[in-house]
Amino acid sequence: MECQIIPEKCIACGLCQVYAPDIFDYTEEGIVLFKNDPHALIVTVNSQDDDAVTTAYRKCPVRAIEIVKNDQTDS
Ligand code: SF4
Repeated sequence: MECQIIPEKCIACGLCQVYAPDIFDYTEEGIVLFKNDPHALIVTVNSQDDDAVTTAYRKCPVRAIEIVKNDQTDS
């Protein structure tokens, strides 16, 4: 699946890195970015990380994380 971040919405709560530490990291101000591609706003997530990213997406209090495309609806 693909995951999008919307840094303008991020309130630097830190929850997404708790749930998906391999995917999310932060700027010096605590604003979300992708750990492996800090300049990207959309990345393709490996299937083994789907659950962690989905949890982070659900927990983000301001919906600064979006699931763009979910091609494994039932895994
Ligand atoms: S959970 Fe949402 S608001 Fe909190 S740091 Fe991550 S993207 Fe930002």
